[in-house]
Amino acid sequence: MKYLPLFFDINEQHCLVVGGGSVALRKATMLSKAGAIITVIAPHISDELKDLVSRGKGKLLLQTYATNSLENMTLVIAATDDISINTQVASDAKARLLPVNVVDNPALCSFILPSIIDRSPIMIAVSSGGGSPVLTRLLRSRIETMIPAAYGQLAEFAAGLRQRVKDTISTESGRRRFWERIIEGPVAEKVLSGNIAQAQSMFDEILLERGQKFQGEVALIGAGPGDPDLLTFKALRLLQSADIVLYDRLVSDAIVGLARKDAEFINVGKARSKHTVPQEKISQLLVDYAKKGLRVVRLKGGDPFIFGRGGEEIELLADNNIPFQIVPGITAAAGCAAYSGIPLTHRDYAQSVRFVTGHLKNNTCELPWAELVAPAQTVVFYMGLMGLETICQQLIAHGRAANTPIALVQKGTTPEHKVLVSDLEHMPNEVTKHAIKAPTLIIVGEVVSLHSKLQWFSAE
Ligand code: SAH
Repeated sequence: MKYLPLFFDINEQHCLVVGGGSVALRKATMLSKAGAIITVIAPHISDELKDLVSRGKGKLLLQTYATNSLENMTLVIAATDDISINTQVASDAKARLLPVNVVDNPALCSFILPSIIDRSPIMIAVSSGGGSPVLTRLLRSRIETMIPAAYGQLAEFAAGLRQRVKDTISTESGRRRFWERIIEGPVAEKVLSGNIAQAQSMFDEILLERGQKFQGEVALIGAGPGDPDLLTFKALRLLQSADIVLYDRLVSDAIVGLARKDAEFINVGKARSKHTVPQEKISQLLVDYAKKGLRVVRLKGGDPFIFGRGGEEIELLADNNIPFQIVPGITAAAGCAAYSGIPLTHRDYAQSVRFVTGHLKNNTCELPWAELVAPAQTVVFYMGLMGLETICQQLIAHGRAANTPIALVQKGTTPEHKVLVSDLEHMPNEVTKHAIKAPTLIIVGEVVSLHSKLQWFSAE
C-alpha cells in the first residue's frame, strides 16, 4: 500500500491554496465543501474563485506566494502552473510538517486527493496513487452508476437509530446481523424510495423480534481455478458477508482476500497426501460453527462437486439440519482449457469430454483405460502429474496413438499459468526438462493441437 487512505476533518480549519486559475478553483471547491476556511494566494485570481472565497470566511491575497502565508494553516495545496513555485510551496510546507498537495505532481505531495463518489455521509474515495487518472475516472463512473444517490439517506437513517440498536442488542455480532438484515432488506428499500415513515415502522417491528436467535448457515462455494475475476457474483456476495471462511490450498490469496476483512479465516489446506485438517474434522467444523449461529463459508478450488469432496462435507450438514447452499465454480478443466485456447470439444476433433482423476492408488491402474482411448474424445486428468508416465503408457498400450497431442497446464488462469504441449510418447520425458509447479491439469486429445493457434492468455 503506497498511501494510507484517510478522511481528514478540515471543517473551520485554515487551508491555503496557492494559485488563482481553474485548477485552484477545483481544489478550493472541494475544500469549501468540507467546510474549510480558505486563503487563496496568487497575483491573479479568477472571478469565480474570488466569489467562492468571499462566500466563506476566507481571504484573498493578491500577491506572489510568500512563505509566511503558511502560518496557521492546517493543509496546503499548490495549484500554480509554475513548477518552481509549486516546488517551493512543497518544501516550505514539508519543513513545517504541513500536509501538502501539489497538483499533478505526486512526487512533491505528502498527500494526494482521490476521486470521490459523494453520497454524504457516505463518501467513497478511489485512487490509483497518481498512476492512472483515466482508470480512476473510469472506476469512479462505474461506482457512481452502481450506488443509488439515495444511499446517503440510508446512511443517515441508520445513523439516527444506531444508539437504539446498541441499547437493545448486546452483542456486536448480533448488532451486525441485525443491521445486515435492515440494510439488505425491505426497510432499506423503503428508505431508498423515500418512504421513511413506513421504513421506520418496519424497523421497529424487526427490532422487537430481535430475541429470535439468528440461525447459522453454510455456503459451500467454488472459488474457480485461480483468477479472482472468475468468481461468481454470488460467491463474492456470500464471501463479503461471511463470519468465518474455511479455505483450502488451491484457493488463491487474492480470492481469500475478497472476504469480509474482519471475518475469521481458517486454512484447512490439503497438501498432497498430507491433510492439514482431516476431512471428517472439516465437516465437523462446519457443523460446529453454524451451530454457533455464524455464517460459514467453505471455499474450495474450482467447483465443489468436481473432485472436491463437496458432497461429503455437506452430508454432515444435512444430517444436522443445518441450512446450506452450494455455489458452483469454474472447474479447473474449463478454466485451464479456456485460458490455454484448447476447446474441450470441437466438431472436427472431439464429440465428448471426460474428467478423470489421475490420482493413481499405489501406482496401480484402476482407471477404465479401454474407455479412455475411445476416438474423438478429450480426456482431462485432474491430479495427474505424479501418474503422468503411467497415464501416457497405459493410453498407448490400450490403443491411443502415440502421437496423440497432450497438454500439461500448470497453475491455470493464474499469473504462473504455463502450458506444455507434446504427445503421449514424448510427454513423460519432456516434463522432466521443466520445473513444474502444482496444481497441474492434463488434457489429452486432438483438440490440444488447436492451442498453438488459439492461445491468447500469457501469464506475466
Ligand atoms: N474441485 C476442483 C478440483 C480439485 S482436485 C476443480 O473443480 O477444479 C485438485 C486438482 O485440480 C489438481 O490436482 C489439479 O489437477 C486441478 N487443478 C485445480 N486448479 C488448477 C489450476 N489452476 N491449474 C491446473 N490444475 C488445477
